[in-house]
Amino acid sequence: MNTIYKNYNPNLLVLCFVLVCYTAVLNAQETKKRLPIIDVHVHAMKANPNFASEMCPWFLKSMPGSGPNQDGPSFISTGCVAPLKPAKTDAEMQEAILRANKELNITMVVSGDADIIHRWHSAAPDRIIPSLGISNAEQMSVEAFRDSLSNGFYKVMGEVAPQYQGMSPSDMSLDEYFGVAEELGIPVGIHMGTGGNGMANITSPKYRASLGQPFLLEDMLARHPKLKIWVMHAGYPMADQMIALMGANAYVYVDLAGFIWSYPLEEIHAYLKRLVQAGFAKRILYGTDLMIWPGLLETSIGVIENANYLSEEQKRDILFNNAVRFFNLDATMFE
Ligand SMILES: [Zn+2]
Repeated sequence: MNTIYKNYNPNLLVLCFVLVCYTAVLNAQETKKRLPIIDVHVHAMKANPNFASEMCPWFLKSMPGSGPNQDGPSFISTGCVAPLKPAKTDAEMQEAILRANKELNITMVVSGDADIIHRWHSAAPDRIIPSLGISNAEQMSVEAFRDSLSNGFYKVMGEVAPQYQGMSPSDMSLDEYFGVAEELGIPVGIHMGTGGNGMANITSPKYRASLGQPFLLEDMLARHPKLKIWVMHAGYPMADQMIALMGANAYVYVDLAGFIWSYPLEEIHAYLKRLVQAGFAKRILYGTDLMIWPGLLETSIGVIENANYLSEEQKRDILFNNAVRFFNLDATMFE
C-alpha cells in the first residue's frame, strides 16, 4: 500500500465525490438540448451597407411627431442601452443562422434571395425550409411558378405581399398562383398589417394601410377552399377582422412576426392575448421577420416565454407544435 492511501482523509474524499457529481449535473444541464422552435418568418438578404444600422427592440413605442418640413423620422431608433447589432457580411449572417439552428434549436421557413437560401439550405438542410415569394404576376409566370414548386426545393409560398404593391390579396392577377399552391398542397404566407411608421407617405408610396384588412382575403379564400394560408403579422392591429376571418375559415393561421420586436411590448401582449382569449392558441405561429439582426431571435423568444397569460402548453404550441401541424412536418425529426 502506498503512502497516499495510507494517509487519506475520508471527509476529503466525500467532498471530492460531491463536487464531481455537482459538476457533472451542471454540465448535463448545459448540454441538454433546448426544446425545438420553428420560426416561420425569416428573410434571406444580401448584406447591404445602406441597411446595416443597430436596432432597439420595441422601437415604435414612441412614434415620432415629425412634419413634412423636418428631416424624415428614422425607421428604427438606436438610443437604447443595448441595441442589437446587425450582421455586416453574408458570411457573418450565415454563421449566426447556423448557430441559431444548433444552439437555440430553431428551424426556419426562409424566403428572399435565392442564392442565400440555397447556401443556408446546403449548410443545414434539416433546419432551413425554403419558401418562394411572389407578390405580382410580373415576377414569374404561373408555369415557372408551378415548376419551381414541383421540383421539391421550395416547400412554402411566401412572403406574398400585395399590400406593398397597392393591391388586395384577392386581386385576380394572383389567383392562378394561389390555385397552384392549393392544388400542390403548399402552405402560403401573406403579409397583412402594418409595416412601421410612415410606410405609405415616406417609404412605400403604393402601400395602403387599408389593404392590410384581413377581410380582403375572404374572396380569394372562397375561390380556394382547400388553401392553407397564414396571415403574416396577424393582421395587426385589426384583431376583430382577424378573429372573424379565422372563425369563418378553418385553415387560416397567423404569425407574430415583425410586431413582436418592433411595437410597444404591452401592445404586443394585448394583441396576442386577445387572439388566445378568442380561442385561437392552436392557430398562432411563432415568427420573427428576421432580416439582419440575429439577436432578435432571442429577444422574440423571450416575449413568448415571458407571457404570463399563456400556459406552458400554449407556449409550446405557438413556438413549435402549431407549425408542425400547419406545415405537415414530422415531429420526430426534431427529437
Ligand atoms: Zn411582412
